[in-house]
Amino acid sequence: MVNAKLIPLSFGSNPGSLPLQYQCEVQRSQRKTLAIHIKYEKIEVRAPVQASPRDIKQFLELHQEWIERRLCEESKRHQEILCLQHGKKIFYRAQEVDIVFRQGRKERLLRDNGQLIFQAHQIDEKKAKQMLARFLQDKASEYLPFRTRALAKHLNVDHKLNDIRFRKTKSKWGHCTSTGLIQFNWLIMLAPFSIIDYMITHEVCHLKHMDHSKRYWKLVESVCPDYKRYVNWLQEHEHRLWF
Ligand SMILES: [Zn+2]
Repeated sequence: MVNAKLIPLSFGSNPGSLPLQYQCEVQRSQRKTLAIHIKYEKIEVRAPVQASPRDIKQFLELHQEWIERRLCEESKRHQEILCLQHGKKIFYRAQEVDIVFRQGRKERLLRDNGQLIFQAHQIDEKKAKQMLARFLQDKASEYLPFRTRALAKHLNVDHKLNDIRFRKTKSKWGHCTSTGLIQFNWLIMLAPFSIIDYMITHEVCHLKHMDHSKRYWKLVESVCPDYKRYVNWLQEHEHRLWF
């Protein structure tokens, strides 16, 4: 990637709905075609070295409607990002639940009537993150290994499953290596069980096929016929689960 520069760009025909000025970053490289990537309040154009500013402007104008729609989506996603503070909401098992910080002698995390209550001697965002992490790690170790082993057995690949581990990443829900190590992101425990089961299925099926080939997805489908719905759900909502 060479010659990244910022150019201001103004377009947009419906004042009021969106800001008219967007930040637009052009990244030039040896690529052959132009492409647009939308990030939060930012348009990134990937362009061939020889593309002129006029080419780029025309390309942007041609895709104006799409760009505005994507900017709107990104802005909505940004507002939905999990913020662990009193009065905010957490998307837990596909329901919006109120976050309540409560001072109390005993440290505990309770679910009560549409609320997730963080109780501790001194409670702030940092403490709430620690409490939620422990809560989800406990749920992960209760649920994931037993379901994973059961499915591996059902698919006759239990001899290939070496180990199950947990970690938290900002980009992946699960991972399966050729040596039979399955890793899960314990943040998945915020999702509904159908999604968690899909994740288990996804990784266990890799013990049979280490790719995303047709036969791999056929196997996933044989266990989880609705898997496409779950893939879509994750794409739509995963930004709400990371903290
Ligand atoms: Zn995969």
